Amino acid sequence: MTSLLVRGGTVVTMDPDRRVMDGDVYAVDGRVEELPSTRTSADVVIDASGQLVVPGFVQTHVHLCQSLFRGLADDMDVVDWLRLRIWPLEQALDAEATRDSALLGIAEMLLGGTTAALTIETVRHTEEVLRAVVDSGFRAVSGKAMMDRLEPGTEMVGETTEEAVAESMALLESFHGAGGGRLRYAFCPRGARNATDDLWRETVRLAEEHDAWIHTHAAENEAQTERLAALGGGTDVTYLGGLGVLGPRTVLAHCVWVDDEEIRLLAASGATVAHCPSSNMKLASGFARVPEMLAAGVNVGLGADASPCNNNLDALQEMRLAALIHKPRAGPTAMTAMDVLEMATLRGARALGLQDEIGSLEPGKRADMVMVRRDRIHARPDGGRDPVAQLVYELRSADVDTVIVDGRVLVQGGRLAELDEAEIRTRADGSVRRVMGRAGLR
Ligand SMILES: [Zn+2]
Repeated sequence: MTSLLVRGGTVVTMDPDRRVMDGDVYAVDGRVEELPSTRTSADVVIDASGQLVVPGFVQTHVHLCQSLFRGLADDMDVVDWLRLRIWPLEQALDAEATRDSALLGIAEMLLGGTTAALTIETVRHTEEVLRAVVDSGFRAVSGKAMMDRLEPGTEMVGETTEEAVAESMALLESFHGAGGGRLRYAFCPRGARNATDDLWRETVRLAEEHDAWIHTHAAENEAQTERLAALGGGTDVTYLGGLGVLGPRTVLAHCVWVDDEEIRLLAASGATVAHCPSSNMKLASGFARVPEMLAAGVNVGLGADASPCNNNLDALQEMRLAALIHKPRAGPTAMTAMDVLEMATLRGARALGLQDEIGSLEPGKRADMVMVRRDRIHARPDGGRDPVAQLVYELRSADVDTVIVDGRVLVQGGRLAELDEAEIRTRADGSVRRVMGRAGLR
């Protein structure tokens, strides 16, 4: 038995009453046991005086395998972005580079308070990402990208339907539930139209049979969405709906180009939309109709997407943007700080099927929590204002002091407690040079 006591902080619980309290959190074997607690000792005691204590942030759309590609595809049209950069770079990844990329991404997310993510990886070497998740202490729902429907440019990363299914199943058998349940498998056809109808039907069947997740991209870019709709089969969302893909275990990244009827379809199905504000602006995809989706009852989570289209994996930055970018159109009272924090915690947890385990700080839930400093100049004065608004509008990832996943302290004093930051940097620098050379980008 290992006990943990977080003392002296202001706890933003995100419980059903959204209580904020000055109180201590006591956890045993990775689970919150008492909040507020009157205990005075534990195996591990953390002083959170003056800090906010919040549930770990959940990102619902990330590509860990692309962390090495940070800054290699700026200011590009999405078609060039994919064909000239992402496909060749992913094709050039070897096992070692894939692991280095995953650890770089996990380290960045942990340092910024993200404790869990839904991630879609590349066609090959995904076992390296999954091992990195298990070893690092991070929590993830993750799977290899499946691509059996090829279009110009994707041949190099493509595969047959049989290969896609066989490799996904091998990964699921090795990793689904690994790390004491911290890692769960997701079947990830890369995009609505990167997979054949057969692969989609098999994905739905296998996800249900194995209680696994389904994650893909949908309706991201207007031109692409229109071009595919013109080929028949409807828009991305109606196409996926027709194949039985939409349901509570499915998460669709982006959904920028959806109409009212598609929003109704998403809400009725219980599927989650992963909203990625930085990525949607950097690739000029557009502004997803998130206020309308929330009003219609769609579960919406947040995601930084990937290093080459963001370029950070920073939950607080995505929260601030999500709160700001819809206001000019939907009005200043749309997308409140609380709406956005719900997306980054409770709604993210639901997106990953972990609503009973994470997303709020309550007795019985896993001890995934983040302590954030609020003593720096950009967060003063302290007039006793709303800590949720302070978190969303003022605080930065560099203010994150301590990060705990499953009761395990992974960040302390703003530094990685277990992973070796210098080694991650050095290895990533070496791997990206190798990958760029192989991709002909150097
Ligand atoms: Zn993506």
